Amino acid sequence: MGVSAISGTGTGDLLDAVCLGLESSKVEDVSSEDDTRVPSIAIIGKPNVGKSSILNALVGEERSIVSPVSGTTRDAIDSEVTGPDGQVYRLIDTAGIRRRTAVAAGGSKTEELSVNRAFRAIRRADVVALVIDAMACITEQDWKLSERIVKEGKGCVIVVNKWDTVPDKDHKSTVHYEQDVREKLRGLEWAPIVYTSAIDGKRVTKILDAAIEVEKERSRRLTTAILNQVVHEAMALNPPPRTRGGKKGRLYYCTQAAVRPPTFVFFVNEAQLFPDVYRRYMEKQLRSNVGYRGTPIRLLWRSKKKSDKDSKESSSKEALAETSV
Ligand code: GDP
Repeated sequence: MGVSAISGTGTGDLLDAVCLGLESSKVEDVSSEDDTRVPSIAIIGKPNVGKSSILNALVGEERSIVSPVSGTTRDAIDSEVTGPDGQVYRLIDTAGIRRRTAVAAGGSKTEELSVNRAFRAIRRADVVALVIDAMACITEQDWKLSERIVKEGKGCVIVVNKWDTVPDKDHKSTVHYEQDVREKLRGLEWAPIVYTSAIDGKRVTKILDAAIEVEKERSRRLTTAILNQVVHEAMALNPPPRTRGGKKGRLYYCTQAAVRPPTFVFFVNEAQLFPDVYRRYMEKQLRSNVGYRGTPIRLLWRSKKKSDKDSKESSSKEALAETSV
């Protein structure tokens, strides 16, 4: 295989080829590690939105407590549920304990306590079910939680509960509702929305189905070849802007560095030549071409070192001819 280690040309494909050739036993090791992993789903949201009711509908009143949070404060209770795919999932419940603490704390501190508790649950989760009440407004607290989910790189399913209380529903109700949710929770535009009625158990299992899909997306790896194809097409369609001095952002190559959340590294001539608006464009292009529904994705932009650039100008030119637009 022809590669250029300096510019990175072809190294992603080389890595893919090496991985393909790995002994099967090694590959099995990795997947069995994945098999024993128990993904966690946290059920969070403001008081009274129906978190406990959802949990009861999912696992029943007699749920078995598998592990209280370590440390002095027990601020969430974990239980386990087996999904339709046969995989065991851990549910992190912040609601049951809240009641007791709320009574103990009382007053204005209660709200603050429940937000902090939700933050800790988000940190431990893989996927967060953010529950909102269909008939109540989306507030700053929901927005704060959504922001934290994105910051922590967690998957998310938005659960609109108490759907039974929405009057005069027709086929357009969910469309209107979705518009409102998207407008108010902008950072979560990629999260699927599930409409539930926990009081009679309606559609509650859809939360688990959606969370399972999200967890799969969050763990998905793209091949370097597909990734670079998408990225280069996106650059051909809309090249980065030139600076006043005529400088132009150039991309050498892109690689997926991590999963959970999917993280992509863009190796470029100068990262500052790719403004925020361009980075958002690239994220949109990635999402529309390769999915990643329900999970934040991270795009990291790395400048090639100056010394590399100066001394290896000719190698870079070779790479640019191949990859830039
Ligand atoms: P939590 O504080 O978020 O755990 O909320 P709860 O599960 O305790 O629910 C608060 C109240 O809302 C209770 O009176 C529930 O019976 C009611 N509730 C929960 N889910 C629904 C629902 O889907 N529809 C209706 N109508 N009421 C619900």
